[in-house]
Amino acid sequence: MKASFFNHFILFAFIVSACNSSSNISESDMNNNEKFNAYKESFVEELWQLYPEWASGVGYTKYDSVLQIPDENYRAAQLQFANTHLEKLKSFSTESLDNANKTDKAMMQNFLQRIIFEINELKSYQWNPSNYNVAEAIADVLNDKKRDAQQKLRLIYLRLKSVPDYYAAAQKNIKNPTLEHTELAIQQNKGALAYLQGSVLDSINKAQFKAHEEQSITAAVDLAANAINDYINFLEKNIKPMLQQGNARDFKIGEDLYNKKFQYDIESGYSAKEIYEKALKRKEELHLEMARIADELWPKYMANTRPPRDEKQKIKLLIERISTHHVHRDSFLIAVETQIKELIDFVNKKQLIYLDPSKPLIVRKTPEYMDGVAGASISSPGPYDKDGNTYYNVTPLTAYMDAEAESYLREYNHYILQILNIHEAIPGHYTQLVYANQSPSIIKSILGNGAMIEGWAVYAERMMLEEGYNNSPEMWLMYYKWHLRVVCNTILDYSVHVLNMDEAEAMELLMNEAFQEEAEAKGKWKRVTLTAVQLCSYFTGFTEIYDLREDIKKKQGENFNLKNFHETFLSFGSAPIREIKKLMED
Ligand code: ZN
Ligand code: ZN
Repeated sequence: MKASFFNHFILFAFIVSACNSSSNISESDMNNNEKFNAYKESFVEELWQLYPEWASGVGYTKYDSVLQIPDENYRAAQLQFANTHLEKLKSFSTESLDNANKTDKAMMQNFLQRIIFEINELKSYQWNPSNYNVAEAIADVLNDKKRDAQQKLRLIYLRLKSVPDYYAAAQKNIKNPTLEHTELAIQQNKGALAYLQGSVLDSINKAQFKAHEEQSITAAVDLAANAINDYINFLEKNIKPMLQQGNARDFKIGEDLYNKKFQYDIESGYSAKEIYEKALKRKEELHLEMARIADELWPKYMANTRPPRDEKQKIKLLIERISTHHVHRDSFLIAVETQIKELIDFVNKKQLIYLDPSKPLIVRKTPEYMDGVAGASISSPGPYDKDGNTYYNVTPLTAYMDAEAESYLREYNHYILQILNIHEAIPGHYTQLVYANQSPSIIKSILGNGAMIEGWAVYAERMMLEEGYNNSPEMWLMYYKWHLRVVCNTILDYSVHVLNMDEAEAMELLMNEAFQEEAEAKGKWKRVTLTAVQLCSYFTGFTEIYDLREDIKKKQGENFNLKNFHETFLSFGSAPIREIKKLMED
């Protein structure tokens, strides 16, 4: 529904239990680790109290009745929380902590500093009106499968009573917003309104309350709906016309904020500029390789046509031709299931990483209650749902018209579908998740580093191809196209927010240099107007893991063992790669 700030990686949550402590530490260090474990528990409890909507989202239900009012007092409370805990963290010396706690401590520090940065410097609470939307806070309670409808609606009723104050504070916060976020806020809050007046009212009607209770809950829905409506009107009639006269804040956040946001969000060992420069270089390498493969494949696919002079045109034509090799629309799910087995066999045969056979991945048709977008995704149990299964959701193409299905199948053709399965499942996200569960940490399951999680999946793609998985020039060409997307996401994000790239230049980059269709490129432009830094996480994580591997390979020489590297790397859980690097190089 709304693009959550703690987006993609919330999906990859881990099972909680007591912390590991390694064997060769002194008694006082042991005490320190125990103290730190206890401290983490109280930290998390306070965290959920301060962020009750986020708590509902991860399945921690204790504060389901609370909605925070985003006013001055609330910001002061967050700052106080951050400063208090930064102080408390100082009292634990890093040297005395075991590896799991060392990385947890670094992640907590970063998280707290990020709160301060966001309130005092980034200030998106002023310029991003789409920060304000109550739909998810209601939906997360209503979608809970463990409680009955009446119980949930009584909690929602309490949350709804705060909605008018919530939007009043929101209106007061808005100062010099961007046009893009204002339009998004209007659109998304209209969605929230429809949700309240649709699904929520329906649930109330079906819940068989006594008349008086039904009346008071319905009245709270009406008041909340009015508040949302007021907010939409405020944005549509007061704010937007003013912005359209040229008074809007630029959505580009600029170099200073960008560099800081990059450090807090990605927690990289590289600066944003270094990653941007690495991406530029990688793009040129990929183009050279693709041109070479295109020359090699041209006679096989295009024997009767003269190749165009323009190298990129030549590559584009070949990609289009090879994309026609895809599964039939009715066998999409079967094809994915078969490929998962092939991937497991390959990883085992090549000894790339140990895959625990007692934790098989369950491939299933995407359930109805999830978004109906075609494709594949991993859904794993949240930190408070220990017994949940991990699923690989695959959406069949049954709802598609023939032309749509054809276009989708060309995009996820024979080659790309395999790369997608590597990324999402084996040995990508799913495998990483199984390892992360062996280094259980509530901190990492809540604050898990997105660049590490995505970087691993992107790294897995290249590693599998390097090891010879379905080795063919076609596979490499398609992989390079897929990889170019990640590379150009980084170039685009940095160029737009820091170097002032405009829409026409962005379209040129995405369509001519990354071989994207116009629709995809336009969607990407829209995304870069609404987010900053997030588009860099994939390439940054990939680069850091790849560089770390090459470093260690150089140092260990003949003793280097790929399987060992992978297992060690993943054993630290979803920590920032720069922290894992410190521990691995020790
Ligand atoms: Zn076709
Ligand atoms: Zn991913």
